Amino acid sequence: MAQNVDQIKDHVELFHQPEYQELFQGKKEFEDCHSADEITRVAEWTKSWDYREKNFAREALTVNPAKACQPLGAIFAASGFEGTLPFVHGSQGCVAYFRTHLTRHFKEPFSAVSSSMTEDAAVFGGLQNMVDGLENAYTLYKPKMIAMCTTCMAEVIGDDLQAFIKTSKERGSIPVDFPVPYAHTPSFVGSHITGYDNMLKGILANLTENKQSESKNGKWNFIPGFDTYTVNNRELRRILNLFGIDATILADNSDTFDSPNEGEFVMYQGKTTLEEGADSINAEGTIALQAYSTTKTREYIEKEWQQPTLVLRPVGIRGTDAFLQKLSEISGKPIPRELEIERGRAIDAMTDSQAWIHGKSVALYGDPDLVYGLVSFLLELGAEPTHIVVTNSNEVFEAELQTLLDSSQYGTNAKLWSGKDLWHLRSLMFTEPVDLLIGNSYGKYLWRDTGTPLARIGYPLFDRHHLHRYPTLGYTGALNLLNWTVNTILDDLDRKTIVPAKTDISYDLIR
Ligand code: SF4
Repeated sequence: MAQNVDQIKDHVELFHQPEYQELFQGKKEFEDCHSADEITRVAEWTKSWDYREKNFAREALTVNPAKACQPLGAIFAASGFEGTLPFVHGSQGCVAYFRTHLTRHFKEPFSAVSSSMTEDAAVFGGLQNMVDGLENAYTLYKPKMIAMCTTCMAEVIGDDLQAFIKTSKERGSIPVDFPVPYAHTPSFVGSHITGYDNMLKGILANLTENKQSESKNGKWNFIPGFDTYTVNNRELRRILNLFGIDATILADNSDTFDSPNEGEFVMYQGKTTLEEGADSINAEGTIALQAYSTTKTREYIEKEWQQPTLVLRPVGIRGTDAFLQKLSEISGKPIPRELEIERGRAIDAMTDSQAWIHGKSVALYGDPDLVYGLVSFLLELGAEPTHIVVTNSNEVFEAELQTLLDSSQYGTNAKLWSGKDLWHLRSLMFTEPVDLLIGNSYGKYLWRDTGTPLARIGYPLFDRHHLHRYPTLGYTGALNLLNWTVNTILDDLDRKTIVPAKTDISYDLIR
């Protein structure tokens, strides 16, 4: 065999060796596969309008949805709080999936435990798993708070978190006054953004119980939402500092997913203290940077805390302008000169790249808030969003996005495909091709099949490194979005003009 101790090959080379090629061929013959001609014929047919109609008629099957499940969002929200251990009541395999999903994207270890329910718990209920699990987690990992959510298994059998946590405390698993906020996160409804919302609401409800004061504390709360560009929290803090705004970020997980390597493992990196979380009930107001991952939390804050909330998305020029104007209003200070200069730089860069982006048709997919911000920015650039796939969409988002599209001549050709998946998008891209695709790493299969250049923006980004370390928020974020977009277009142009004496008349040094 090609693999021996003196000649170690990684999988990229290994499987090209003759032994493996022979093995693959033998496997095909053994499985009595269709002929290469038949496979090509069917593959071609999947690019047709005929296939598109059949593809869009499917009801009982989803292929590559652009969403994850609720508990993933829940543990992401919990990870922003000080000393907090996410605890998932349910099956171990689900939790392994959430941890690896986050780890593969951020290239960081992520700690979360589960009550590890198996067949017996599925039949008799998971109470004993929770009693034991809480005791073990508390004793071994010494958290300051345990944030509890559920997987489908616990939800299907109807385990009651509130009652189970109470019983666990009565049985002495953890001290009676130890905070264990919880959220039911059934994954057969909603998505990771729903889970984020449920968990954040659960944590805030727990921490702020009996903490309302007579007077306000003069601070403002900011909720990032399910934003995997966690460095945005640092960028947000920098901007708030420029205005001198005293703020609590609910919750700041920028260090959790981007911790320094100093030779020692630090298990808890959430930056929002439990004290700050508790005092958030006394803030002047709450500003959410996403709408659809914070819906229930904002409703809760308005109703239970009697605190005003609003949504502002500081993405692109217009979004950032509106955000900074609000900060100016609440701080009573003019927009700092530093930010005005950043705006000027972003506009200058957009002008420099305008010739390459203007008029380009774009397919994109992702979470509602991410997509809203990207569409808004693309319209500012004169690009034309065309196919917009949002698997975890809803009617409110549909109306909001349509209003945005209607506000620009570049939005005329756009269509939002609510609830659709990436296999639908494949049909759209074959039958009505576009110039550019924007989305997460799963888009690389669409890039391979359709040849449409892919700008990797979103979550997860498994197959490229460090993109999450660059902010997408504010004018700095606009520059990053512009960079990823225009340079993807230029990379593609190089690929298309690379053949010597054929296409290389346009293989230019200067673009
Ligand atoms: S959808 Fe349900 S079963 Fe699947 S990983 Fe998520 S919680 Fe587990």
